[in-house]
Amino acid sequence: MQAEIIAVGTEILLGQVVDTNSAYIAQGLADAGIEVYYHSLVGDNADRLTTVVNQARSRSDLVVISGGLGPTKDDLTKQTVAQLLGVKLVEDAPAMAKIQQHFATTGQKLTPNNRLQALYLAGSTLLKNSTGMAVGSFYRDPNGADLMLLPGPPSELEPMFENEALPLLKQAYRRQEFLVSRVLRFFGIGEADLVTQLADLIDEQTNPTIAPYAKVNEVTLRLTAAAPSTAAGNQLLADMTATIQSRVGDFLYGYGDDNSLAQVVVNTLIDRHLTITAAESLTAGKFQSTLGDVPGVSAVFPGGFVTYANEAKRDLLGIPQQVIDTDGVVSEHTAQEMAERSRQKLDTDFALSFTGVAGPDDLEGQPAGTVWLGLAQRHQAPQAKLVHLTGNRAKVRERAVMQALDWLRR
Ligand code: ATP
Ligand code: MG
Repeated sequence: MQAEIIAVGTEILLGQVVDTNSAYIAQGLADAGIEVYYHSLVGDNADRLTTVVNQARSRSDLVVISGGLGPTKDDLTKQTVAQLLGVKLVEDAPAMAKIQQHFATTGQKLTPNNRLQALYLAGSTLLKNSTGMAVGSFYRDPNGADLMLLPGPPSELEPMFENEALPLLKQAYRRQEFLVSRVLRFFGIGEADLVTQLADLIDEQTNPTIAPYAKVNEVTLRLTAAAPSTAAGNQLLADMTATIQSRVGDFLYGYGDDNSLAQVVVNTLIDRHLTITAAESLTAGKFQSTLGDVPGVSAVFPGGFVTYANEAKRDLLGIPQQVIDTDGVVSEHTAQEMAERSRQKLDTDFALSFTGVAGPDDLEGQPAGTVWLGLAQRHQAPQAKLVHLTGNRAKVRERAVMQALDWLRR
């Protein structure tokens, strides 16, 4: 069972309208266990539409087309498809009555082209339009691909797809498989390294499939399983996740499409009723701002310190001038002092500190990218660790924040 989706509309082709219909339809088809192999996009042109639909019919079992069911001259999907299938268009009486009613109420003149909206493919199942005029069709072709025609406006397409089309599709292709997927999120390992460590799995595995994707500062793997039921699919995902965990579990920090490292850290703190603060030099508040992006963080984050200059480290945190003079501002000792003193000031369970060289220039003879992170915990001696970060000033600062979050989550 292979399906494909065609979006019709010159405005989409030209980028004036973003094709959200195809994404919507694809997700619905996946939920119904129908695999989508191609998406196409074609303008309001009968010849090119014919070419695209014929190609789709030659290689797929189901072709779902959106757009061009309206009354205007550029709306020619129905006529074009009817012609290439060699079937007539027939009028649906209730749809026609609804159109007449609409024109009577609004006092507009009913022109012949408006009647077009009540037409559907002879021999097909009509799809009612609860939020507009143009009806859809589900045409089952015993000798070729099945075709579905849906209106362009998402406000019409979505209810029609949900209420009219999906039940028909599920019934028509009943013994289909269900697709389930899960995203695994990694930090601290590059895409190349991850893919190498999982090479055999990625190459051999067809169910679930494993698709790596490198994002800024992290890598994700999307696992997709096909099974006769969602539960069976989830079991396949769980088994594969366990295998992956046994190899690279150290770097696996979370699941889901929009579950950031900061979210994982903040939610863990919330769950455990632990609080956090920070003292930031080179990151100048970026770490705290990142925490602030997560909803609910106020339960665990009372506030913190931006101590950029040495005077601020001394006056706001009380770090002895002597520590800075003796050990340097970019040093293990200063990082520890910053963390522990900020923790004590706000009486939190944790505190992170950042002192380093964002660049582009060296500082105290240390090259850009040299960063000391400090971590203070209640009832423990403060720790510090040295990281060497690559990239320009912005990247160094961003990576320092990510490193700290990763340290915290472990
Ligand atoms: P109408 O009766 O409104 O003309 P129609 O079925 O003829 O409906 P189109 O003329 O193709 O549909 O598109 C109408 C509008 O619907 C477009 O201008 C656009 O705003 C929206 N639309 C069409 N196709 C898509 C799509 N694939 N994704 C998102 N929006 C779309
Ligand atoms: Mg139109």
